[in-house]
Amino acid sequence: MRLSYVCEGQQKELGRQQAPGSCPYCGGKVEAMDVEVQSKLCFLPMCFQIKRKYFCTLCSRRLEILYD
Ligand SMILES: [Zn+2]
Repeated sequence: MRLSYVCEGQQKELGRQQAPGSCPYCGGKVEAMDVEVQSKLCFLPMCFQIKRKYFCTLCSRRLEILYD
């Protein structure tokens, strides 16, 4: 497990959309979610980042998109 999660503060969901491809674990549909992450670092009190995360809508696994 990586420690990067510690730096992540509150997340605000910006939107979801259907992503191409299917879940490698269960074959379910993949959904892309854009989130605004508010990082809380001592030297940077507020830092907003937009991240796109992929989830399986069936088994809720966090997925990474891999390009062949
Ligand atoms: Zn799945």
